[in-house]
Amino acid sequence: MAEPSSQTILVTGATGYIAKYIVAGLLARGHNVVGSARSEARDGEIREAITPLLEGEDWQGRYRTLALDLSKDDGWEAAMAGVDALFHTASPFPLEQPKDENELIGPAVEGARRALRAAVKAGVARVIFTSSTVSITTKEMPQEGSVYTEADWSDVTRQGVTAYAKSKTLAERAAWDFVKDHPEIQMTVINPSFVVGPPLGQSYGTSIEVIERLYNGKDPMLPRVGFPAVDVRDVAEAHIRAFERPESAGERFALAERFMWFSDMARAVKEAVPHRKVALREAPNFLIRFLSLFDASIRTILPDLGRERMISADKAKTVLGLEFRNVSEAISAAARWIDTQKSRP
Ligand code: NDP
Repeated sequence: MAEPSSQTILVTGATGYIAKYIVAGLLARGHNVVGSARSEARDGEIREAITPLLEGEDWQGRYRTLALDLSKDDGWEAAMAGVDALFHTASPFPLEQPKDENELIGPAVEGARRALRAAVKAGVARVIFTSSTVSITTKEMPQEGSVYTEADWSDVTRQGVTAYAKSKTLAERAAWDFVKDHPEIQMTVINPSFVVGPPLGQSYGTSIEVIERLYNGKDPMLPRVGFPAVDVRDVAEAHIRAFERPESAGERFALAERFMWFSDMARAVKEAVPHRKVALREAPNFLIRFLSLFDASIRTILPDLGRERMISADKAKTVLGLEFRNVSEAISAAARWIDTQKSRP
């Protein structure tokens, strides 16, 4: 039986790398969870993925999957029936940027509005919204070495801004605009940096594909590019604590343990799987600039070449009481997970 204080929470994008940890965390806290996926046929896969985190818990009857698509109206209103809170995590996050940026911007922005509209209609007032630090850091700071905070907003008109960064920034903006017009909604936004750590189940998101690329060792050298990073388990915990702490409403929270260059990430991979040929050397910046003349995907990293974009997670530490796990260890754990999958017969 669920505890008396248990609530019913709709988590969109429950097949996702981060969302599976959120779903498991909410179930472990005694809540009922409705997970959305593009197809209900993925119910078994979600259940199997979260099972290892829920040993000894009586949770199967407290979870169900229903079908929702960010680009379609079907089902959203019905999905909110009996729901106390919405965790909106679903958003397209491909490794390769599409030729048409609207493939990402459309579902991200329209999906956010669709979810919020359905929430308002059903009287669901509590919302935890998954954005990203790309909604914060895609802008130039007045001084080199300045630390980004939640007060910063990405500039979607900046040259070289990716479709993904645009989609996340515009979706978060649309969500805040919506809430301005509907003050009954108590929304907290979580802005994770690059998320790392072992995936649950067989399907995993783009950030693990990046670790997999390092593991595969196909690139002979690495560009001097990096990001702040955070453990997936801390990201899930941040969402749940934001929900548990009403004082977090109306705020955005950047999540990052530390900045890591690709070469730091590669070292963490190599440490975990020393038998693999992992490239550790950095390519000189002039070489990357030269290659970008011929390769559009390389062009997108030019604004970040050699730039250490630091972001403060002090607010998450203070208000949400988070203590971040070591991301280098999280990358090693992800690399070991990839290695185990690859060595399966
Ligand atoms: P995943 O790709 O694993 O998860 C994305 C989820 O969104 C999946 O459940 C996916 O469903 C769903 N989704 C995508 N497009 C649609 C659509 N049109 N309709 C319905 N559902 C859709 O990525 P992550 O778990 O990493 O990302 C989860 C959230 O966290 C996203 O909002 C992402 O932007 C954000 N984020 C991720 C970071 C990271 O480094 N991983 C960093 C910062 C933010 P399906 O399985 O059907 O594709």
